[in-house]
Amino acid sequence: MKAFVVTGPQIFELQEVASPVAGTGEVVVEVNRVGVCGTDVEFFNGTMPYLHDGQAKYPMRIGHEWTGRVIQVGEGVDSKLIDRRFIGDVMLGCGTCKRCQSGRQHTCATRFEVGIRNGWSGALAEQLVVPARFLHEIPDSFDDTIGALVEPGANAWRVADAAQAQPGKNILIWGTGTIGLLTAQFCLAMGANVHMVGKDPVTIKLALEIGVASAGESVIEIAGGYDAVIDATFDNKVPSKLVDLVEPGGRVVLIGVDNNPALLDSRTLVFKDLTVLGILSGSPGLAHSIEFIKSGRIDPRIIVGATVGLGEVGKVFLGTRPVGAGPGPKILVDPKKF
Ligand SMILES: [Zn+2]
Ligand SMILES: [Zn+2]
Repeated sequence: MKAFVVTGPQIFELQEVASPVAGTGEVVVEVNRVGVCGTDVEFFNGTMPYLHDGQAKYPMRIGHEWTGRVIQVGEGVDSKLIDRRFIGDVMLGCGTCKRCQSGRQHTCATRFEVGIRNGWSGALAEQLVVPARFLHEIPDSFDDTIGALVEPGANAWRVADAAQAQPGKNILIWGTGTIGLLTAQFCLAMGANVHMVGKDPVTIKLALEIGVASAGESVIEIAGGYDAVIDATFDNKVPSKLVDLVEPGGRVVLIGVDNNPALLDSRTLVFKDLTVLGILSGSPGLAHSIEFIKSGRIDPRIIVGATVGLGEVGKVFLGTRPVGAGPGPKILVDPKKF
C-alpha cells in the first residue's frame, strides 16, 4: 500500500510500504478520509516539540484525524466489525495505569498517539492499524468529510465545555483556524454569545457566516465583558492578552501551542480569581462530537476548503493552496486518490 512518509524537515516521499496486519485486539482500517492538522504541519516542518524531546522521530508516517472502514480483525476482535465505518481515538493509552483507569487515557505516560507519538504509524496512508477498543462507530448519515472532522470536533467540544458555554455567556475566541471555528460552532450550539479575533480576512468572513456575533482583526469591547476566553492560535503573545481581557472569576481555555512558551503573570490569575484550563486532546470529547453532529446541532463541513489526493498532500504541507479551494481552513485527504 502507499503511505506518505516524512523523512526529515520538509522532506517527504510517497512510499510503497507493507500493508498492516491486525495483531491481537487490533483491526486494520481502510482509510476513507484524513484531515491535515496543525500538528501534522509542525511535524512536517520539524518544529513539533516531540521531535526534540524524543517522543517522536523521523521517518514518520503522520495523520491522525481519520475515518475509515474495518477490513481485517485480529485475534479476540468481533468479526462483525468488518465493513463498518469508524473514527478512532488518537491517544492509545495502556488501559491499566491509574490515569487510563480514571478516564484520562490521553495522558497515559506510555501511550502511543496515532501518527504522532512513540512511532505508531499514522493515517496518511491507504490503511491503518489500531486497537479495536479505541474505535467509535459513526452513523450512516455521516459522509467521509464529516467522519474526518469528528476528532478535531472533539477537541473543540472539550474547549467549549471547558469555557462553560451556555446561554447568557460571552465568549471570546482568538484564532479563526480550524479549531477556533469549530469551537465557535460548539459554543453557538450550546447557546453562548461568541466573538472572534483572527488575522485572515477569509476565515474572519467564514466566522461571520457560521453565526458569531462579531469577528475581526482586533478585540471589541462588549457589555458585561467576556466570561470565558479561548486561545486557538499558534501565537505565544495571545494567552497573556486573554488573561487581561477576561472578566474576574472567568475562565481561560488554552488549546493553541506556539514553538515558544507563553508567559502568564500568576499574580493576575490570583487577583482575578481565574480558572485556566489546558486541552491536550479530543479523547474525552469524541462521543460528544459524534452526538452534536448526529443530532444536527452542528455541521462542521463549512470549515473544509478542499479535499486532495495522497500524492498532492506534500504540496499542501509546503504551503500551496489547492486549486479551487474554498474559504475553509481545513484540507482533507482522500488516500485512495494519488
Ligand atoms: Zn489534529
Ligand atoms: Zn495508561
